[in-house]
Amino acid sequence: MKNKQKTIKLLIFSLPLFLLVSCVTDQKEEQNVLNAINKEVQSNSKAYTNLEKMTSEIGHRLTGSDNGAEAEEYTYELFKSYGYEDVQYHEFEVEAWARDSVRLEINKQEVEEVVSLGHSPVSADVEHQVIDVNNGLRADFDSLKNEVKGKIALVYIGILEDSPEGLKNIHRSEKTALAIEYGAEGIIIINQVPGGVLLTGTASVTGSLIDIPAICISYEKGMDLKKQLKNGEEISAHIQMSNKSEMIKSRNVIATLPAKEKTNENIILGGHLDSWDLSTGAIDNGIGIAAILDIARTYKALDLQPKRNIKFVMFMGEEQGLLGSKEMVKMLADQGELGNVSYMMNIDMSGNPKGFNAAGRTEMLPLFDEIGAKIQAVDSSYENTNANKAGLHSDHQSFMMEGVPVVGLVGNLERKVYSYYHSNGDDFSLVNEEHLKNTVRFAGMFLWELANLEEIPTKKLDFEQTKDFLIEQGLKEELELGNEWKWGE
Ligand SMILES: [Zn+2]
Repeated sequence: MKNKQKTIKLLIFSLPLFLLVSCVTDQKEEQNVLNAINKEVQSNSKAYTNLEKMTSEIGHRLTGSDNGAEAEEYTYELFKSYGYEDVQYHEFEVEAWARDSVRLEINKQEVEEVVSLGHSPVSADVEHQVIDVNNGLRADFDSLKNEVKGKIALVYIGILEDSPEGLKNIHRSEKTALAIEYGAEGIIIINQVPGGVLLTGTASVTGSLIDIPAICISYEKGMDLKKQLKNGEEISAHIQMSNKSEMIKSRNVIATLPAKEKTNENIILGGHLDSWDLSTGAIDNGIGIAAILDIARTYKALDLQPKRNIKFVMFMGEEQGLLGSKEMVKMLADQGELGNVSYMMNIDMSGNPKGFNAAGRTEMLPLFDEIGAKIQAVDSSYENTNANKAGLHSDHQSFMMEGVPVVGLVGNLERKVYSYYHSNGDDFSLVNEEHLKNTVRFAGMFLWELANLEEIPTKKLDFEQTKDFLIEQGLKEELELGNEWKWGE
């Protein structure tokens, strides 16, 4: 009896000590892992050279094209070469848009620099008078009323410098929707980046084909046309185009780093591999892909085993409407696996993070700060400035719409890289090697901590909770416009 008491006493006293010691060693080990991740990336990162290779050898990565398929295979092989055993293609078949030819004549003179915008009709041949609709906002269309009908609307993609203060710009697809509403027969969108830069991207708010041809012309040409119209000259435009909208096959690429403990829980790190076809998409989203691949490489090089499965995903079809991520969500739901996705982290056109975005999951913010402090202990230059605002229009949206917690980067790239967004100028010369390395280091450390938390304090929301969450985040109206709102009034 006495002996037993002693043992119990010993247990009672030593247990907390044991827990404390093991907790301290855990923390120390965790900090060691972060240091190791940092060191591995600093000395052996392949992100920059991989991206250079991918952009120069493959070129663009349009979904459904031969180039796109080549990019899928390139990343598949890279995962394999890093030692990933579980690498899979997730094939899907969807309708996707692709340009064929376009021709623009202004007063019978051909304009060389022109591109079609996504989801323009499969075939169009229109010739009409051009009308200047300024910034293409509702107020601009309103002020012209019936005059737009039967004409070709000329709109600026941004907000013109001489506009009144405080105007809020809208997306090119929304300007196009207004042009259609006001009866225009075509729309010419003027790009805002000088130097003959042309932009593409969708002109459809819903992802379905639109009824009128939509094209983009250069800033210089556009300003020229505006001047002529202002001087009272009559301008006619002749737009001819053909495009394809057909069923294509494409593949997401998924590589899994298996869990050591919580084998049922998955953390997804994803980004879109596809690009538009005017350039090599080095920024959109080459930098995201190169960073994800290098985080995967780093973990394997260090032989790390996370508490939860980490799934690295290269999504295709993002540019044509988040096609690949929607397909993956559908697949997971069909398999009853969606509830096992604890978190989805997305990297799209972002990098050099100074923090992470909790995207409306306020309960995560203290943990984000804590993880950030650990990163700061490795590198004091890390700012640990976290944000908490949910947004749309990249692959995280497909997961967020199903109530899955998502996280993004609070990026800190130079402004100039964004001027070439969706344009023929988005190439490797814009990539900053140090910034790319910082993405791999900081996102790699953050993801590691997330995957190894004892408990994740935020959970998947059910159907009704997701509705409330999206309303609270102010996203309802935009989702309705895009035909994505599935909750009714
Ligand atoms: Zn993108």
